[in-house]
Order: sequence, then structure tokens, then C-alpha cells
Amino acid sequence: MRLLARPLPSKTSVRGLFPGLRRVIVALGAVMAAVLAPNAQVGAEDLPAYDPRIQTALTLLDASLATNQLRGVLASNQVDIRFQPMPPGVYARYSVARHVIEIDDRWIDSDDITLAAVISHEATHAQDAVSGFLSSGGSSACIDSEVRAFRTSALFWIGQYGSTGKLNALSELDRQLNSIADRQLRDPQGLEALVRQTYSQQCNH
Ligand SMILES: [Zn+2]
Repeated sequence: MRLLARPLPSKTSVRGLFPGLRRVIVALGAVMAAVLAPNAQVGAEDLPAYDPRIQTALTLLDASLATNQLRGVLASNQVDIRFQPMPPGVYARYSVARHVIEIDDRWIDSDDITLAAVISHEATHAQDAVSGFLSSGGSSACIDSEVRAFRTSALFWIGQYGSTGKLNALSELDRQLNSIADRQLRDPQGLEALVRQTYSQQCNH
């Protein structure tokens, strides 16, 4: 998931303040998860051991008509979800080869609904990958998958916040999710055109 329309530049960036500290916290979290997570989930579906915030976000996706099929896709394909640093302008991505959704760690403190919206986008790519749609269709399938992914996150966002969107959306990510949802409601063809334009180069390889 990339930045679609560049919002107004913010004057300050929180990102560079405590990168080392944040990494330590992430690393500690990983250690804690390794200590706390059982080696095998007896009797449960074979789900990867997700971060508790990811678990909460997945519960939100389960409850939404637009996204309630996604957890099954993630589970049956053992798709991991984790935070890590991303290049500028990339919020998150799905690796087809490694079966992992990676979310930029600048969003690690986002609320559950925002995380769920990002996961809904990337999980849509996972769904398109395991169905064979992505591998068979070349660059047009890549762009179609982006259109679907943005639409899915928009429908989830609208289901959570209604037509007004999230009030007091302070982060660049929340503002983009508001903007995508608003376009989906008012001008879905315009949203599709914007996604096609943004991804035409990235999908053309
Ligand atoms: Zn995408």
C-alpha cells in the first residue's frame, strides 16, 4: 500500500526521534512473543502467532462484511504479519514469495481500526496471490489487485466510520484512508483511475 495523493507536508516528523528505542521495543516484543506463544496451538487452526495488536485488528476484519473472508485466507496460507521499516511512500506490502504482510514500523502505534484497514489491503493481495490471479495475469492483474485492495480497505473504513470518515485524523495514513473512502463513496471510478495511475509503473515489470 503506497501513498496515493501526497497530502500537505507536515512540519515535524516523529519518525526520526527515537528510531533506536523503537527498534529495541520491537525486538523485545518479538522476544516476549517467542516466550509467551505456545509452540503449537492444540486444536486451533494453524495460525501464525501474531502480535496482540494484529490479533485485535483481525477480529475487526472478521466482523466486517467487506473483509470477513480474509482471516481464512491468511490462516490457510500461513501468512505472517509484522512491522518493519519501509522505504518512503510505502506504508505496507505483501510478499508473494515469503507469505508475509510487512507494515512500516512508523505505524506501530496506530489504532486497531487503522491497522485493520492496512491489513485488509495487503490481505487482498494475499488472496489474489493464492488464488493464482496475480501470477496468471501479469501487470494488468497486478493493477486490478491494487484496485481491489484499495476498494476493500475503503469499504472496511466506511463500515467503521461511516460517510464522514475518521474525525481528527492526524496521521498521514489516517488521512489517506479517509481520502480513499471518500473517493469510493463519491467517485469510485475516479479512485480506480488514481490507483491505476499510481501503480502503472510499479506493476509494469
Ligand atoms: Zn497494494
